[in-house]
Amino acid sequence: MSYDFSGKIAFVTGGTRGIGKSITEKLLSCNASVIIAYNTSQKDADAMCRMAGADGKKLSALKCNIADASEVTAAIEFIENNFGRLDFLVNNAGITKDGLVLRMNDEQWLDVINTDLNGVFYCTRSALKLMLKQKYGRIVSISSVVGMTGNAGQANYAAAKAGVIGFSKSVAREMGRKNILINVVAPGYIETDMVSGIPEDMKSRMLETIPVGRYGTTYDVASVVCFLLSEDAGYINGAVIDVNGGMY
Ligand code: NDP
Repeated sequence: MSYDFSGKIAFVTGGTRGIGKSITEKLLSCNASVIIAYNTSQKDADAMCRMAGADGKKLSALKCNIADASEVTAAIEFIENNFGRLDFLVNNAGITKDGLVLRMNDEQWLDVINTDLNGVFYCTRSALKLMLKQKYGRIVSISSVVGMTGNAGQANYAAAKAGVIGFSKSVAREMGRKNILINVVAPGYIETDMVSGIPEDMKSRMLETIPVGRYGTTYDVASVVCFLLSEDAGYINGAVIDVNGGMY
């Protein structure tokens, strides 16, 4: 499905790789202007901007560690000063630092909570200030099936991803009357760098739990995100859309 997002300004966190990169490419193909946030992948971000520019697409990149509230504030100020508005926020950036809870240290816990949950709060809070002024906004946050099922070895990640759901449902209730809609996409197992370290035997056991018999692609997620940003989804608010092949 293609949409016409001409004139729309989108901010995608973690747009340099994996799911965020696909979301960015799909938004660009629908003629949105996209700003991506990266933390460490400056080279990837620069390469994406060069390629998009050569194709006549409007892509910019910002160094913005979403776990740092002041960097997020600065990024949204940059967007306001340079683009004048912000229509779409996609809270995509996330990390994992897995370990069984008895062996999980404070750093593993805090790094994941700070990025995957606090980052969503910082970006949403800052973006809302702009969206309220223009009386329009669409926010999609990427949670995970693990935020609903839990997963041994991922208590920190599951807590953060469950938190994203509760947070988004609450903000959806606060903002619905302001023409700002907030929804969540909860992917299952999507082949990206994030899951590349999972041992093969564990991967094949996981495959058996997926009714459609395949892992998800980044495009599977990007297409649902763009639907939620579009006017076709204008009456969807506070929803969690599973993109997991039926595994949950
Ligand atoms: P990747 O590891 O492939 O990419 C992560 C992206 O997030 C990178 O662009 C990275 O940029 C960025 N990022 C990480 N930390 C920060 C930070 N502190 N500030 C700004 N950017 C940051 O991940 P995926 O594409 O697999 O995952 C995307 C989202 O989807 C995540 O929220 C993840 O939890 C979720 N998800 C993924 C699933 C999967 O199976 N892959 C399943 C369910 C949910 P940089 O390199 O610059 O740090």
